[in-house]
Amino acid sequence: MNKYDILVIGGGPAAITIAKTIQGKLSVGIIRPEDHSMIYCAMPYAIEGLLPFEKTLKKDAIVTEAKASLIRDKVTKVNFHAKTVETEKSGEIAYGKLVIATGATPVLPPIPGRDLNGVMTFKTANDLQRIMEQVDNGLKKAVVVGAGAIGIELAQALNERNVETHLVDMGDYILPNMVDYGIVERTQESLIKSGVKLHLKSKVTALQGETVVEEVLLENMQIIHFDQMDHCSEAGTAILPGLVVFAVGMKPNIELFADTDLKTERDGIVVDNKLATNIDSVYAAGDCCQFTSGITGEVISGKLATNAVPMARVLANNFLGKDRTYPGFFNGTATRIGDFYIGGTGFSETTARKHFDVEVGYAEFTTAFPIMPDTTKIRLKLIADKNTHKIVGGQFVSGKPVTDKVDKITMAIQYGITLEQLVNFSYSAQPYQSFYPAHNLIVKAAESILRKISS
Ligand SMILES: Cc1cc2nc3c(=O)[nH]c(=O)nc-3n(C[C@H](O)[C@H](O)[C@H](O)COP(=O)(O)OP(=O)(O)OC[C@H]3O[C@@H](n4cnc5c(N)ncnc54)[C@H](O)[C@@H]3O)c2cc1C
Repeated sequence: MNKYDILVIGGGPAAITIAKTIQGKLSVGIIRPEDHSMIYCAMPYAIEGLLPFEKTLKKDAIVTEAKASLIRDKVTKVNFHAKTVETEKSGEIAYGKLVIATGATPVLPPIPGRDLNGVMTFKTANDLQRIMEQVDNGLKKAVVVGAGAIGIELAQALNERNVETHLVDMGDYILPNMVDYGIVERTQESLIKSGVKLHLKSKVTALQGETVVEEVLLENMQIIHFDQMDHCSEAGTAILPGLVVFAVGMKPNIELFADTDLKTERDGIVVDNKLATNIDSVYAAGDCCQFTSGITGEVISGKLATNAVPMARVLANNFLGKDRTYPGFFNGTATRIGDFYIGGTGFSETTARKHFDVEVGYAEFTTAFPIMPDTTKIRLKLIADKNTHKIVGGQFVSGKPVTDKVDKITMAIQYGITLEQLVNFSYSAQPYQSFYPAHNLIVKAAESILRKISS
């Protein structure tokens, strides 16, 4: 029986990070069933036609060049006492330490009609291929359920390919987990102007059809119809199903452990800040884990690659003898809607108000000196706790990318930086890359909060 110092169940970003960090200093086995790991974030852009399908596939060399063994197989059982796993093809494999990095699966809500042909979620290579095939075969109409970043990116991609695209969400506005309405308002208008048919405050209650989805029923009595013309490319060719894609959240892949002593809760495997589970020599990282907010310490969702990778990095470094701890989720995220880049981190104002007495401040400048060509606007909403003056959230919208700015606010939140420290923040300026030296977006927003607090 093969034995590895570290055996990882999973082949996503968490597993790959373990292999890349350990670099052969311990023996590492990575078990995953898929032919290829995916660059999930890029999937919508393959549908849009900006890159070929193949570019969304990660090369196996990422794992093998890191001197880890790649085992294409599926784990069917874990024997925690014997320290072995059973797999579909390779039989039993033994471990010194086990890392569970089984990820999460998109939720397909339990509504009537969910098994109809044409109803799906969006995560795997097969999902991507299926949608690309339907679009290439002349799909006329699609419904995307869920106006978070994944739903929006998918809806835009379909719209760009001339598919009549309906985006449905129960919320009052798009991206509610990322930003507040004021920041997203103009972006939402631009999404509608681009042709995406937005149905807000709308819950999908049922899907109807004989074998293929023909109608999407909404709670407010609206019905989105597909007809045969929506499904086929040319008269006489095979009828393809309509397309309804659910992007309404993720559930952890933990069924494998249902009858074991491994402690799991609603959002995944329970781990401590060293990513250790309740079972000796068993750890977990990434989307399959439940973890806490880095701000309040309470359990929050954070199923992002930018959480999975740092979790795995902490774990792998500890395997190599370091003593690192994982600080929790801050959930910095970003997306692009038409010509707008939008991003948020920490808590939105709505969420922050449930935990703190908050004050918000705004600043708006240009992304370069206003006298320079190709200059566009950038707006920041900063959210702080009135009592401690610590930053608890930040949101940006701009005509230029915002992730570096989102990350700066995350750093302020993560390291407990106060408004007083932010107004003294030392920044840089250059005509192509910033506003005039006379001011800085973050300083200005922090000053505006301090003025409100002291008045
Ligand atoms: C369309 C899309 C866009 C996204 N965009 C972003 C983004 O822009 N930014 C961002 O930060 N995050 C994004 N995410 C989320 C991000 O992809 C996930 O958070 C990340 O992949 C989690 O990594 P992971 O390693 O924990 O799990 P996963 O990537 O889900 O990998 C889990 C692995 O475990 C394997 N596995 C499961 N069960 C078994 C078993 N029994 N035996 C063997 N192997 C098993 C799976 O096959 C898979 O290989 C996006 C996700 C999607 C779907």
